[in-house]
Amino acid sequence: MSYIEPAPIKDKENPLDSMMSRFDEAARLLGIDEEMYNILKIPARQVIVGIPITMDSGRIKVFEGYRVIHSNILGPSKGGIRYDPDVNLNEVKALAAWMTWKCAVVDIPYGGAKGGIACNPREMSAGELERLTRGYTLAMLDVFGPDRDIPAPDMGTGPREMAWLMDEYSRAKGMTINAVVTGKPLVLGGSLGRMEATGRGVMVCAFAGMEKLRINPYKATCAVQGFGNVGSHAAMLLHERGVNVVAVSDMSGAYYNENGIDIEAALRHLDANNRSLEGFTGGEKIPPASLLTLPVDILVPAAKEDVIVEENMHKIQARMIVEGANGPTAAVADKVINEKGILAVPDILANAGGVSVSYFEWVQNRLGYKWTYERIQRRSDRIMRDAFERVYETSLQYKVSMRIAAYIVAIDKVARTYTFRGGY
Ligand code: GLU
Repeated sequence: MSYIEPAPIKDKENPLDSMMSRFDEAARLLGIDEEMYNILKIPARQVIVGIPITMDSGRIKVFEGYRVIHSNILGPSKGGIRYDPDVNLNEVKALAAWMTWKCAVVDIPYGGAKGGIACNPREMSAGELERLTRGYTLAMLDVFGPDRDIPAPDMGTGPREMAWLMDEYSRAKGMTINAVVTGKPLVLGGSLGRMEATGRGVMVCAFAGMEKLRINPYKATCAVQGFGNVGSHAAMLLHERGVNVVAVSDMSGAYYNENGIDIEAALRHLDANNRSLEGFTGGEKIPPASLLTLPVDILVPAAKEDVIVEENMHKIQARMIVEGANGPTAAVADKVINEKGILAVPDILANAGGVSVSYFEWVQNRLGYKWTYERIQRRSDRIMRDAFERVYETSLQYKVSMRIAAYIVAIDKVARTYTFRGGY
């Protein structure tokens, strides 16, 4: 198929190129034709806005905000909003496409989108962040909508920002519309279990992977990169189930303890120290990069994209990688990881627990009803377990990695749906 270039990885550590090279490989294996290839490749909508905000100093600063809707073939598009200085259109495009594949892998009726604002939330006051969030929401008024495009938290945002977004959108529409966004605080129609949902899905995938590799969880060791919403919950849930979490890290550094980090103590430290591990004494400080190459059973990269790259790919010693972050493994590292026999549970499967519970939140909002914690846990664990098995079986059938198998499952579903719906 000449229209699919032979997977060029132009910039080895660019998330869009990484995403595309996997997409190309899976599309080739599935025998997707040229028209369908282009339909699935080109985002449905890309919006860039300038958001002028009065800073606390009184000066007006203009921020650039993005929303990319990659696909709405399966349903309204879904995906988080990222506040980070590195946010750019290419990154948002990759993240939006990953959302399409992620929702398809776990079989929920959503397309994929992602938004972001290039800003440094750590250096902004709550008032500045509120004005920025409200300004972004107003600029995206015709993009968002409970039946159109439904944002959620991502890096640098959380329930607080989602509450502002829901409020601004509702004011503009003249009525409360809580289903326009997920990841809200509980009192505003947030769902029980949403905060830990992504970390819980990571834990479920880690256990499913240990079963396949015949690793005894009580003897397993684990290193978690990133101690934000995803990493901290994944670490806690693994630790509670007997896995020895020997290393954790965040922006302040990496902490190692061969007898196991006391995760409860680490979480208490976060609460008392402005969400940072700075000054945590429950482990010896090690160079942050060395956490990734520790000889552990399970490595959970739960920070950012492109951390397993050409430079360190040969040194990875884990038996299994469970990707809590989006895009932590650059495409250039796939071959080496596979040749080493490392089971890599890919991002679009491993971190899909978050969007799954977002889906439950949206369903509850639309029903005007609240589900119990038990129901949410049961249903999200089932979704993750079923998706893991579907991807694992596909990897055996096509003799490919779990990553390419996940893309095959996703692309096949979206392509078949498009074929039924039909185009012009
Ligand atoms: N930002 C999260 C993700 O990357 C959650 C998206 C959502 O819940 O819509 O999966």
